[in-house]
Formats: sequence, structure tokens, C-alpha cells
Amino acid sequence: MPLLVMKFGGTSVADLARIENAARKVQAEVERGYDVIVIVSAMSGKTNELVGWVEQTSKLYDAREYDAVVSSGENVTAGLMALRLQEMGIPARSWQGWQVPINTTSAHGAARFVSIPRDNIDAKFAEGFKVAVVAGFQGLSPEGRITTLGRGGSDTTAVAFAAAFGAERCDIYTDVDGVYTTDPRVSPRARKLDKIAFEEMLELASLGAKVLQTRSVELAMRYKVRLRVLSSFEEATDTSGTLVCDEDEIMESKVVSGIAFSRDEAKMTLLKVEDRPGVAAAIFGALADAGVNVDMIVQNISERDDPADKRAYTDMTFSLPTNQVDRAKKAIDEASAAGKFVFADLVTDTDVAKVSVVGIGMRSQVGVAARMFAALAAENVNIKVITTSEIKISVLIDRKYMELAVQALHDTFELEKA
Ligand code: ADP
Ligand code: ASP
Ligand code: MG
Repeated sequence: MPLLVMKFGGTSVADLARIENAARKVQAEVERGYDVIVIVSAMSGKTNELVGWVEQTSKLYDAREYDAVVSSGENVTAGLMALRLQEMGIPARSWQGWQVPINTTSAHGAARFVSIPRDNIDAKFAEGFKVAVVAGFQGLSPEGRITTLGRGGSDTTAVAFAAAFGAERCDIYTDVDGVYTTDPRVSPRARKLDKIAFEEMLELASLGAKVLQTRSVELAMRYKVRLRVLSSFEEATDTSGTLVCDEDEIMESKVVSGIAFSRDEAKMTLLKVEDRPGVAAAIFGALADAGVNVDMIVQNISERDDPADKRAYTDMTFSLPTNQVDRAKKAIDEASAAGKFVFADLVTDTDVAKVSVVGIGMRSQVGVAARMFAALAAENVNIKVITTSEIKISVLIDRKYMELAVQALHDTFELEKA
């Protein structure tokens, strides 16, 4: 029997009526002759509420209990979806992560898949069941405890099941009708893309476009899963949504395909760091040990204060998520107190945002960075930090200019035009 994976995000299962709407879409695929694995998120807002309850109860919470609490939202929607399908006369069963079992690492709150044995679900399909409804976002650690995969993780559950079961396609139903040139909630001129290359989607996701969890795109790319993003609020046709696919399936490719942004960025600068071999390793080693996710890094040229002083000094700037600033400060203070490096001052700026342009066309085009910087200059937006890779350019700017910058870049690279 051909098999499909259909994933419904939070807004697509937000209440009983939405669950019924989603169930009808599953029914349509069953009637077309598919066995279906349905992956569900928690009802929209539920995971945030659960996370809030954990944080109010315990500031430095035990991550195992965090997972026990926040994974529960998906259990409710999985059961309700199975019941709704049964009411429609479709043989369906719900599955929590441990029942499959979805084996993961024990990194609570950010677990990764280890294996998804097919036997239990295959046996149910063999018995005549048509749909397996699986709770997204969760798994089982080697210690036998519930894990979660990080926010947005149900996308990754969906792709992992599509890979494990050799699904014909993995459909991600959400509240927008596909992947856009940028978040349609920020730019009214954003245009829906019919296709986007895995590499581009991977960059967009990791640079802030939350329409797909980054890890889900990585898995789809590795296991060649046909991945489609579409709206649960519309009737689907064969050409609905956006197909995330191999580069060579895309005929024409623009220099820039999309723009991503991330609001919750902070910038820290260590001033007058005594420069010597090993200083970067000492600073970023301390931050890594403290679990800080450093993103962009800039080191200034080394200078001597006065000729009599043999020591050279440099400034070191890096960006990180806003909610890790306190942790980073603590790590830097402790490491410098232990004599691992010497600096004069630490300056923190928590009002920055990162804006990135992404496109595989950049590989073969020069001058993209210059066009980007000119567009920002024309809007009087000051660039604080720049990083580039083969297919993306990111800048850190004042947060209040983020929307303006996204719009200006969208216009400059003519993304509203097909
Ligand atoms: P779900 O609950 O279905 O998983 P998410 O809220 O996680 O949905 O992801 C969908 C949202 O992603 C959209 O509502 C949109 O605001 C946002 N988004 C960000 N960037 C993009 C983009 N480039 N294309 C489409 N949506 C985007
Ligand atoms: N419910 C989880 C979250 O809100 C997982 C998901 O929806 O993908 O992050
Ligand atoms: Mg999501």
C-alpha cells in the first residue's frame, strides 16, 4: 500500500472543528488508496502554556520533568484525531512516542532521533488499520523517559517517519499556503514559492524562518524525502503549496530566493582583550562549555597601545540568542577570573536583529553583498556585524529597523516578481 505522512501544526488542530477539518483531509487520502501516518502538534498556544507552567514552578527546572510536561499537548491531539477518524468510519489508532517506540538520545528538550522501528505500526496496518496518528515532538530516551525534540519539533517527527516508512511524500499542513520569499506576516509583498531547494530551505529555517524546523529539512535532504508545505485552511490540489526539493528540479533560480530574520538576537563585545595565541579558544571554549549558542563572530585587528607595552589588544564581538546573555556573562566572568583571558570591559546590546538573504544563485553571482549593503544604506540602516557563507549573507542591525530592512531587501532583489 502506498503511504503518506501528513503533519498538522498547532493552528491546524487548534480546536475540535479544526481537528475535524484535518481529519477530512486524511479521509480524502485514505479514499485515494493511501495508508496514512498523521503527525500532530499540540493545539496552538498549548505548548507555550505548558512551558510557562514549568518556568513558573521551577526556574532552573529539571529538563526531564520539562519534557514530561510539555510533551503532553501532543498526546491530547493524537487521541482526539484518532477518535474523530474512528467516528468517520476510518480504522485509526493513536501512538505516543514510547509506544512506537520513537527512540531518541537523552538530550532532554533537544533530543535527536536514534531509530524508529516500523514493526508495531506495520503490524497495525497489516491488521487493516488505515491511519496511525502519532504524537509529534516527542520520543523515548535510552533511560526510558519521555524526551522532546525542541520547539517546532513535530516537523522533524513527520520527516523522520516519512524516511523510516518510505512515504511517497511528507505533507506539512500549516496556517500559510506554502513557503514564501519572506514571512508573509512581516512583508505584504512576500510571494509564495512553488519550489525551493533543500539547501535554501535549510538556510532560511536556520536563520529564523520558523515555517519548518531546521532539523526536519536536514533529514529530508539526507533521506530524499519529498517534502511539501501547504495550508490546512484550503482545499489541496496536486499543485498546492511549496515543494522542497533538489536543486536540479528547479528550472530558474534567482540570485536571492528568500529573506529570513531573527528578532531575539543580542551582541556582546569584549573590549581590549589581551591578544595572544589561544585567546579565541579560551573565550569561545568557556561559552561553549556553558551551552551558549554563539552565532556571528568578529575579531578586530590587533593593536599595541604604546610602543613600550609589548602586549597587543583586540576587540572581540559575537552574537547570541537574547535569553543566553546572562549565562554568557557568567561564563566570561568565571573564565577571566580563573585567568584564562584578560579584557578591559564587556558591552552588551540586546536590541539587535539578524536579517539574512539566501539563494543558491549567489554561488555564481558576484556583487550580491554590495547590493544588499547599498539597499540598507539607502534606508539609513547601520550594519553592526556581517557574516557570509556560499549561499547566504547575514547582517546584524538595530531591531527597530528589522521590518524596514526586510522590505528594502525584498524590493532590491525583486522578490515579489516570479
Ligand atoms: P505550525 O504551527 O503549523 O507548525 P508555525 O507557526 O510553526 O506553524 O509556522 C508557520 C509560520 O511560519 C507562518 O504562520 C509564518 O508566519 C511563519 N513564516 C516565517 N517565515 C516564513 C516563510 N518564508 N514562508 C512562510 N511562512 C513563514
Ligand atoms: N508543539 C510543539 C511546539 O509548539 C512542537 C510543534 O508544534 O512542532 O513547539
Ligand atoms: Mg511549526
